[in-house]
Amino acid sequence: MSTEGLGAVLDGVGGAIRVEPIVIEDPAPGEVMVRLAASGICHSDLWAIEHGNWGATWPMLLGHEGAGVVEAVGDGVTSVAPGQRVVLTWAVPCGTCRQCLRGAPRRCGHELHQPPRVRRTVNGDVLTGVLHCGTLSTHTVVTEPQVVPMPLELPLSRACLLGCGVSTGVGAATQTAKVWPEATVAVIGLGGIGLAALQGARLAGATRLIAVDVVPAKLDWAVGFGATDTVDASQDDAVEAVRELTGGTGVDIAFEAVGRPECVRQAVEMLGFAGTAVAIGVPPVPSEITLPWNGSDRAAYPHKVNLLVTDGGDPIPSEDFPEMARWAIEGSLDLDSMVTREISLSEDDLTEAFRAMLAGEVIRSVVVFPGVDPAPGEGALSATR
Ligand SMILES: [Zn+2]
Ligand SMILES: [Zn+2]
Repeated sequence: MSTEGLGAVLDGVGGAIRVEPIVIEDPAPGEVMVRLAASGICHSDLWAIEHGNWGATWPMLLGHEGAGVVEAVGDGVTSVAPGQRVVLTWAVPCGTCRQCLRGAPRRCGHELHQPPRVRRTVNGDVLTGVLHCGTLSTHTVVTEPQVVPMPLELPLSRACLLGCGVSTGVGAATQTAKVWPEATVAVIGLGGIGLAALQGARLAGATRLIAVDVVPAKLDWAVGFGATDTVDASQDDAVEAVRELTGGTGVDIAFEAVGRPECVRQAVEMLGFAGTAVAIGVPPVPSEITLPWNGSDRAAYPHKVNLLVTDGGDPIPSEDFPEMARWAIEGSLDLDSMVTREISLSEDDLTEAFRAMLAGEVIRSVVVFPGVDPAPGEGALSATR
């Protein structure tokens, strides 16, 4: 048997987004079919449009930040059953690489392969989801470890953000940098991921949160998420400004959430002694970075700095996502304010969403699929265990 649906498809690098009919085969053993309720639009979708899907085959099914309801499971699947509300993840520790085997699953490189169950109706071509998810579609099929159960109290239009942007930013703060109480923190780049890093640092107890961007409206957003200071980098030298705000000391931790080599350098240069810079943004290919190493008051070597790269917040999704969901339900993690627009799965809405993202007008646009996630009490599909 198979299911008919719709998906946002791309034929090649830089191509046009087409929303077209898709056919979804039933999940094989160890696989799960999810009916999507919501999917955020992330910078990594744009990166995949511009660069390709990290080596995966074309055509591509867009989207990797989705939440929905399990529609069907293959043999042997035990962690979820049809009707379960889930968020999808692309960052599952593999359990077999050198990092996993030495007991460091958060350092895993996440080798995934999406099952070839989603096809173009028109010619039967297999569609590969962005980051092996493919959530800008009515349905997708992934492996069992790629779905994480979600509590009923959290709307799926908010839960979807845990699948990438929020878990990346919060995890960069809580897992990669291990922000500590009373730490001083700077965040460069206040898109969805940067604002999530800001929230993660706040949740971890950082008391000084300096937000840096070139778009004044984003600085206002950051204040709403708990920033104590802002730096308009279109007016001021970001490094000088952060050093000045910290009495010349520099910050303990600086996050780079832009994906530009010069911003990584700024993150390193604004650190205090033994500080840690965390690179979150995906840089252009190819990229190089140079750092002042010795002989200046910003030099890395005498300041004993650390430079870390995070991969999606280095998560263990089965542990971290339920915890973040709890924070969201309790109100300490603000997901509501991160959803700027709810849109539909149409070519016009998607094209506009990518434009708005590039223009810095939105934190997140989220595609909402009508009827999949009714509010509790309205019954139907998501009335679950
Ligand atoms: Zn691994
Ligand atoms: Zn993403």
